[in-house]
Amino acid sequence: MFEKILIANRGEIALRIQRACRLLGIKSVVVYSEADKHAKYVKIADEAVCIGPAKSMHSYLNIPSIIAAAEITNAQAIHPGYGFLSENAEFARRVEGSGFVFIGPRPENIATMGDKVKAKEAMIKAGVPVVPGSEGELPLNNKEVARIAKKIGYPVIIKAVAGGGGRGMRVVHKEEDLISLLEITRSEANAGFGNPAVYMERYLTEPRHIEVQVLADEYGNVIHLGERDCSMQRRHQKVIEEAPGVEITARMRKKIGDSCVKACKLLKYRGAGTFEFLFENGEFFFIEMNTRIQVEHTITEMITGIDLVKEQINIASGEKLRYKQSDIVFKGHAIECRINAEDPYTFVPSPGKIELCHFGGGNGVRVDSHVYSGYSVPSFYDSMIGKIITHGETRQEAINLMKGALIETSFSGIKTNIPLHLDLLNNHGFCEGAQSIHYLEDYLANKER
Ligand code: ADP
Repeated sequence: MFEKILIANRGEIALRIQRACRLLGIKSVVVYSEADKHAKYVKIADEAVCIGPAKSMHSYLNIPSIIAAAEITNAQAIHPGYGFLSENAEFARRVEGSGFVFIGPRPENIATMGDKVKAKEAMIKAGVPVVPGSEGELPLNNKEVARIAKKIGYPVIIKAVAGGGGRGMRVVHKEEDLISLLEITRSEANAGFGNPAVYMERYLTEPRHIEVQVLADEYGNVIHLGERDCSMQRRHQKVIEEAPGVEITARMRKKIGDSCVKACKLLKYRGAGTFEFLFENGEFFFIEMNTRIQVEHTITEMITGIDLVKEQINIASGEKLRYKQSDIVFKGHAIECRINAEDPYTFVPSPGKIELCHFGGGNGVRVDSHVYSGYSVPSFYDSMIGKIITHGETRQEAINLMKGALIETSFSGIKTNIPLHLDLLNNHGFCEGAQSIHYLEDYLANKER
């Protein structure tokens, strides 16, 4: 086992990884930008190294600085968290090339999954169901593209091969709009991702977002840990997540989970990973794989009792997976609300000093957050300041616990999206479990009227 791990991230996930290190008796090195200098998780770290100025480009995305920090502190492994460099194959390669262990998948796997066409091809090979669409990139011949669209059937969605973060996508409802939208998407993809290549899929109109968590070791042992429903999204950003998925039966879970396990075995995948699907009329359609820990990993931890960050570290240290598929049992229902420093209705970020911060608690309530009274939320990064997770015997209990936890929680000095969460938790449609990926945006649009 490692003696010291460097955490190449910030905020709540840096603290989450620091906690897993403490659990395992491993020393942790936290790297920080000048904007995070005063954060408590930096002060309480075994060691902390400043890696540059506030702008991520010069600090949390600065590969040489991070590797130098690992060198001077004699860390043995680097945990990338989520976001920043976590899905950067080049970073993983350079970490390994410098003699450190990358706590994550092999760089080849990160690269394959980062190319959406290659990722889809790999899934088709493994028998994972994908959204029907073009075979690979769209050709440059417009007539040919029109023929492909017709064959798939309108509406279709054009997506950048190198896209990410919900950007680089366009829905086309009718043939007349096809070529102009195709051209816009291509030039946006080129400007945004440095690659104009696009592909096409059938546009699913009312899907849920369902994702499957997997864990794999170095030796080809793979398990899945069931699914999460992350349909409550705004602009493709998840707001509330829950596990298990409302409509998912044990049979569906086994079938889709087994196919993800098979894909991992074929890919020789290692570490934690998530297969993302759209789910409509009882069918799953693969859209992408995330080769890292996700924000919402906590709800899977609550219903399985397995600490995913601890297992990531165990796997990276060369240990065999400690669980068999038959060991995984799902208990109760968990919900996560992402707490953002933003206006709950305009979504304008609200950075600044938190005068007072108090989180609710009690049996069945978990808080993953690095903030506290007196903490200043920097304006340079994502507005998420923490997560509240509840775990009840039933979905209704988890909802009830969440309402209580949010009512108990108070912030002053900054705005948070807690009022929006409370609205949603009292919303009839959400309580009935009726949401598709458009539910939240429709809800917000209706509210405005
Ligand atoms: P990104 O990597 O940018 O997050 P994804 O491929 O995961 O891109 O898609 C992001 C979101 O876009 C999905 O969660 C879904 O809301 C929507 N989306 C993507 N593909 C489709 C599709 N074929 N039909 C309907 N919605 C889609």
